[in-house]
Amino acid sequence: MSISRQTRQARREIVTAEWPKRAACIGVPLYVLYPEDRSARRDEKRPRFNKAKARKVCAPCPVRQECLDWALRSNDTEGVHGGLMPDEQVAERRRRVRNKTLWPAQLAG
Ligand code: SF4
Repeated sequence: MSISRQTRQARREIVTAEWPKRAACIGVPLYVLYPEDRSARRDEKRPRFNKAKARKVCAPCPVRQECLDWALRSNDTEGVHGGLMPDEQVAERRRRVRNKTLWPAQLAG
């Protein structure tokens, strides 16, 4: 599957972006925000993903909008971003593509 130039650009943004440093999820275990946490070793005692818990982490986050915008532009919708679940992000991404609002004007092309 090929990805667009804009998607590649968005994925690179995260390296130099300032907003992740203000994220409310810094230090939060992956399983809290990723329903499919494939990086965690199999541990039956490990707590499972819980939507309400994930939304609670994101609710007070000062960079919800930046996080969601980045996730939708980079097409990284496996985890929770901006308080939205993966399926909600896919729906929101489709809506933005349809309305031509996915990309900021300077990146659209
Ligand atoms: S919105 Fe949620 S996932 Fe995104 S940076 Fe904030 S706490 Fe982390």
